[in-house]
Amino acid sequence: MMRLDPFAADDAELAAVLGDEPAYRVRQLRGWLRRGVDDPAQMTDLPTGLRERLAECLAPPARVLRHSTADAGLTHKLLLEVGEPGGAEAVEAVLMLYPASGHRRARATVCVSTQAGCALGCPFCATGQAGFRRQLTVGEIVGQVTAMDRRLRDGTIAAPTNAPPDAGQRIPDHVTHVVFMGMGEPLANVEATTAAVRWLHDGEVGLGLSARSITVSTVGLLPGIAKLTELGLPITLAVSLHAPTDALRDDLVPVNRRYGLEALLAACRDHQRSTGRRMTWEYILIDGVNAQPDHAEQLARLLTRRDAPRVAHVNLIPMNPTPAVPWHAPPADQQRAFAAVLTDAGLPATIRDNRGGDIDAACGQLYADYAVGSGRVLPAAAEAWSRLPVDADGAAPGTRTGGGAV
Ligand code: SF4
Repeated sequence: MMRLDPFAADDAELAAVLGDEPAYRVRQLRGWLRRGVDDPAQMTDLPTGLRERLAECLAPPARVLRHSTADAGLTHKLLLEVGEPGGAEAVEAVLMLYPASGHRRARATVCVSTQAGCALGCPFCATGQAGFRRQLTVGEIVGQVTAMDRRLRDGTIAAPTNAPPDAGQRIPDHVTHVVFMGMGEPLANVEATTAAVRWLHDGEVGLGLSARSITVSTVGLLPGIAKLTELGLPITLAVSLHAPTDALRDDLVPVNRRYGLEALLAACRDHQRSTGRRMTWEYILIDGVNAQPDHAEQLARLLTRRDAPRVAHVNLIPMNPTPAVPWHAPPADQQRAFAAVLTDAGLPATIRDNRGGDIDAACGQLYADYAVGSGRVLPAAAEAWSRLPVDADGAAPGTRTGGGAV
């Protein structure tokens, strides 16, 4: 029997589960969910018998399998088991804490997964190598945020112990931002993603986050971008571009063969017209593949075209060492030169400070455990690794010591 996802349920569905209980029980139940408490056993103002019934009727809360920390306590990864026993999946959520600095407020950003695995097979991504397992439900997505939120509120996650004495006040005691950039392609699970965005934004039944503090990342699934445009909330759209031409993007982001760059730019323009939000571009820097000076020039030309959507930020992401993937980042001076070409063209570009590298929590590394453990590599990715240019220092992709599974 499929149990009810309380985060996706309307009042009538919750009332049906509550049976003959008085009408105010719906409000009580909503109150717990709004505070991120999804385990009926912890809903202490409900009668014990009702809590037991809810535990049978509602989808089970996520179970924490592992909590790892990195970056002196500023990055936390939860490995969560979600779903019914027997159909459970392991998913990962990452919390990144940014203490206040200057006039910038402290932030607590959760990066959530939307799928167990991913079907889109980008050859630089560990998740892509693991393949697709299943979609996550609305409750399984927002449950990653509430699991972190509860830990911030109850002090389980607090200021790093080596921080200055006043740093406790400088780290938020609740989640302030959510980015849909974890395992999976959010817009390949667009109904659950948009419902999760609505819940996170809704101040009545959900967490009440500002839409501006929510970012949805996509490799460019156009029907999904259209859905986000219909949603009409001024969230930030982040598109993982990773290549400045269709020819190279066809290899690095295989879905580009279906939705090419021109159509992608048009969809992003529509989203911008509807929401008024500038967008973010994500660009992974891979040595010898997409990070040479001519790639930077091509990218600058593409993003400054008269008909290009207005840019809030170009995020340059040095390729993380990912055991299942034989590529790596270019040297730091090459990264800086790439960024300089963009900033000289008037684009606000920065090189991302990768968080959580030593707990496999950085981009493209989620699910690395699975990809490495299983030895699974997509044939299409292995093909891309052999077809794309050799590294700048002459080593062919896949031939480096410790380079991974191929
Ligand atoms: S980069 Fe994103 S879309 Fe591509 S395989 Fe990885 S998770 Fe999927």
